[in-house]
Amino acid sequence: MLIDFPGRRFYFFFIEIWPQEVYFFTGLLVIAAMALFLMNAVAGRIWCGYLCPQTVWTDLFLAIERMVEGDRRQQILAATGPWTAQRVVRKGIKHFLWLMVAWWTGGAWVLYFADAPTLVKDLATGHAPLLAYGWIAALTATTYTLAGHMREQVCTYMCPWPRIQAALTDEYALNVAYRFDRGEPRASVKKSEQLKLEGLPAGDCIDCRQCVNVCPTGIDIRDGAQLECIQCGLCIDACDNVMEKIGRAPRLIGYDSDVNLKRRIEGLPPVEKIVRSRTILYAAIIAAVGGIILYALLTRHAFDISIIHDRNPVFVRMADGAIRNGYTMRILNKQLDTRRFALSVDGIAGAVVEIVGLPMGAAQVVEVGPDQSREFRVLVSNYEYAPAPSSPIVFHLKDLETGVWAQAKDHFRAPERVR
Ligand code: SF4
Ligand code: SF4
Repeated sequence: MLIDFPGRRFYFFFIEIWPQEVYFFTGLLVIAAMALFLMNAVAGRIWCGYLCPQTVWTDLFLAIERMVEGDRRQQILAATGPWTAQRVVRKGIKHFLWLMVAWWTGGAWVLYFADAPTLVKDLATGHAPLLAYGWIAALTATTYTLAGHMREQVCTYMCPWPRIQAALTDEYALNVAYRFDRGEPRASVKKSEQLKLEGLPAGDCIDCRQCVNVCPTGIDIRDGAQLECIQCGLCIDACDNVMEKIGRAPRLIGYDSDVNLKRRIEGLPPVEKIVRSRTILYAAIIAAVGGIILYALLTRHAFDISIIHDRNPVFVRMADGAIRNGYTMRILNKQLDTRRFALSVDGIAGAVVEIVGLPMGAAQVVEVGPDQSREFRVLVSNYEYAPAPSSPIVFHLKDLETGVWAQAKDHFRAPERVR
């Protein structure tokens, strides 16, 4: 993938997108938004928990932290103890590794915007543009700060998605949830056995707070769904471990929908409803937009023509009585060799087309270089009559090598019926 700003091109494998084809990006953005909505309708904030770069990079930074400074308990012990040489060295190694990952991330981003092998060589030899060094430094700093230091604060305070997601969700979406019907009333293992002996209700939650301790946003999922929950699933694993140790069934915390949480409390069997109006709508929009993009890609021309009518004057009356309209024509040659194109017009009987610079009356043939666009001034003169003050006119462009046609529509303007 290459986003070539100076060359005004976007390359994706063998597909080359021109600035005039920016609608492909619009389509891709629509698909991305709908995919996010669909994910949310099916499995809540699955994007936040497993796919968002902020979560992925934070997890990577945490893995480095664990590797260098040990698990959470060891980190707390070290943080409350004195500053020893070992602690200083470990902190230094951790921050060095974080900076390396951040620098690698920033460098990788910049390589999307230039020829990667050349830029890597230029960066290494100090010959790359200052802008490239600046961007790598800025992206390194933001990655280091956001993933290393701010972590889930980004999700809670900076990211708009939790707010949007809350407005888009419904009672059938799966979310990380605590099963109140099973967990409550919570009591220690010993106390719950005693309660059961006395014939009193006792839930499976032993109030060990492991689910709270592992939560990166510091919330208690037993209080119900919360905006801060990024659905990382760490509380599910923590609680399952506890349940395994005390010999109780897993998934006291698990993926569940609001409707099923209610149904379980009422003693009703859970229901799954993935296919519903909103999931059908999102999937249909993705399929439709994807289909349109695919069709447009498969049928796109290897060359194209665009026409813009002069704004002022819209027509000129010539000395010989003819009415003349001026246009700006741009020909896009997306092929990798020079092509010759012949221009003709249709729609106005007797209209004569002329590309400025070519002799009038001769074949209006122009050349456009490989992978280039060229602008021409075009004049259309009407010596006979114009059927209306504004008549449709079609410009036809023929690739003289392949015989393939492209066309652009505009209007021919005249004061009134002219003879
Ligand atoms: S980890 Fe499980 S058992 Fe422990 S407090 Fe959380 S929900 Fe209750
Ligand atoms: S409540 Fe559970 S799933 Fe949500 S952020 Fe905390 S640990 Fe992750």
